[in-house]
Amino acid sequence: MNSHAFSVHGHFYQPPREDPLTGKIPQEPGAKPYHNWNERIHDHDYRPNAVLGNFERISFNVGPTLFDWMAEYDPRTVQQIIDQDGWNFDRYGVGNAIAQSYNHTILPLASREDKITQVRWGIADFEHRFGHAPLGMWLPETAVDEETLQILADNKIFFTILAPWQADTNLIDTSQPYLVPLKNKKSISVFFYDQDLSTRISFDPAATSNADIFINQYLMPKYYPNGSGASQLVLVASDGELYGHHQPFRDKFLSYLMRGALEMQSIEATYPALWLKEHPPTRTMSIRQFTSWSCHHGVVRWMGACGCTPHGEWKAPLRIAVNEIAALIDTQYIDFSSRFVRDPLELRHDYIKVILGEIDFDEMIAAHAKQMPDDENLQKIKLLLAAQYEKQRMFTSCGWFFDDFDRIEPRNNVSYTAQAIWLTYLATGLDLSNQAAILLRGVKSWRTGNRADVVFTQHLNRARTSNLIGKIRA
Ligand SMILES: [Zn+2]
Repeated sequence: MNSHAFSVHGHFYQPPREDPLTGKIPQEPGAKPYHNWNERIHDHDYRPNAVLGNFERISFNVGPTLFDWMAEYDPRTVQQIIDQDGWNFDRYGVGNAIAQSYNHTILPLASREDKITQVRWGIADFEHRFGHAPLGMWLPETAVDEETLQILADNKIFFTILAPWQADTNLIDTSQPYLVPLKNKKSISVFFYDQDLSTRISFDPAATSNADIFINQYLMPKYYPNGSGASQLVLVASDGELYGHHQPFRDKFLSYLMRGALEMQSIEATYPALWLKEHPPTRTMSIRQFTSWSCHHGVVRWMGACGCTPHGEWKAPLRIAVNEIAALIDTQYIDFSSRFVRDPLELRHDYIKVILGEIDFDEMIAAHAKQMPDDENLQKIKLLLAAQYEKQRMFTSCGWFFDDFDRIEPRNNVSYTAQAIWLTYLATGLDLSNQAAILLRGVKSWRTGNRADVVFTQHLNRARTSNLIGKIRA
C-alpha cells in the first residue's frame, strides 16, 4: 500500500554570542526583558517545544555550540530533548535527532582537513549527548560540495537534507529520497525538502495558524491521488526557532499538527532515518556543488558581495584574512606537534574527546605519541591545540551572514583569531600579531568605520591580561 507521510525538520541553532574570553553572553538590550537573546529564544521556543514533547515527533538537530550553552542554562530541557530522541531510538532502533558539524562552518569553503574535524567533532558531540551514533547530519546553511558528502559517508553518516535547488536537475520528486553516488563505492542519501511548504511555514503566518487548514489546504495537494504511485514523504525544513520565537504559538501548532491533525487525515508522521528503513532510495542524483539554502548565489554570502546582503564588500577581505591567519596557525601547530605525535591532524580530530571531558589530555597524547613529550612540551601542545579550537571557531558562518562587519558575530570571529594568535605565541614564542593585524586591516564596517585590525588588537590586549590558559578545556 502506498502511504502518505510527513516530516518536519527543525534546525535549532544560535550564533555564538558568548564573550570569547569569559564564555558568558553579555547583556543584550534588544532581548529585554531577558538578559540576552539565547535566554529569550529559549523561553519562547526550546523549552516549550521540549515540554510539549515536539522533539519526539519531528526530525531535528541542535547545533553543538547551542547545546553547550543550553546544558549550562537549562539542563532539564536538554535532558527532555535527549529523552525524546531516545524514546524513538528504543522503539524503532533509529532516533529522530541528527548531528550537525561542530561550529556552523560553511564546509565547502573549508579545507579538507577542517571539514573532517568539523564532521568528526559533530559526530562525537552527538554521541556524547544522545548516547548513540547519528545516522544523519545537518550541514550548516545546507552548504554542500562533493568532498563534504564524501567525508560524511566516510564517517558513517547515511543521509542529509538539502534544498531542492541543490539537486543537479530541476526534475526531481521531493517526496522521494535520492542516492548520491560517491567515490570508493560509497554513497549518501539526500532528502530534498519541499520548497513551497517550507517557505510557507517560515514566512506565511496565516498558513500555520490552524493545523487542520494547513493540512487540507497546503499539504494534501502535495500527494499523488490515493492508490497511485509510490509511498511519499513530504518533508519541510526550517530553523527550529520558527516554532515559538520567530512566530509566536507555533510550538502549539506543531504539537497539534504532529500529534492529532495528521492522524485524522491518515498521514503518517515520520522522520528521515525511520523512513529510510522501509523506503531506501531507488534513484540517483548528483548535487549542485557550492550551493546552500540561504544564498541564491551559491555560497557567496559567506565570502563576498552578493544580492543577499547590501554592502558586502567587507566579506571577501575577512574571508581571505581568516584563511591566511589559519594557515599561519596550522603551520605552527603541525611543525611543533609532529615532533611528538604520529599525525597532528588525527590528533586534532580526536581532541574533541578532551573538550567533552571523555578522556584526559595526557591520555589522548599517549595514544597518539611516537615519543611522549615532557611536561613542558606537553603544555605547548596543549596551547597549540587550544589555538586549533579557536581556529575552528574563526570560521563560524554567522560572521559573514549579515550585512555589516561591526556586529557581534563578525567581531567574535576576529576575537577568536586574536586568541588563536595569542595561544600560538604562548606555545612557540612566535608573535604573529602584526602579520595578522595587517591582513585584517582591509575589513571595515560601512556603518561605523570600525575595522577588523582594531577589533583584533583590542581583543589581543584583553587576552594578554586575562587568564586564557586557565580557561582551556583540557
Ligand atoms: Zn547570496
